[in-house]
Amino acid sequence: MSYRPIISNVEEASNNEKDGLYEFIIYLADGTECRTFYNRYPEWKMTNISRLLKTPCPICRKDFICKCMENFGGVLQQQITDNEWLEKAIAK
Ligand SMILES: [Zn+2]
Repeated sequence: MSYRPIISNVEEASNNEKDGLYEFIIYLADGTECRTFYNRYPEWKMTNISRLLKTPCPICRKDFICKCMENFGGVLQQQITDNEWLEKAIAK
């Protein structure tokens, strides 16, 4: 599997600060957008990721729901950690 997602931006979509639940939209360099859910406590943890159905999947090319992005949660999480995307997103 040679696909390698590159995050170009992350935006906060919604949150429940009291419970530490956050929803983020991840924008990838290839135009793909993903919705992720995070639980902040005890530490930031991605609980779900799915592709928004705005563009066909860059991996399987389907234009309807698929689970490909679930395989890239770890890769995306690494970039999010390295670039402090969540901190930047919630600071806006
Ligand atoms: Zn797919």
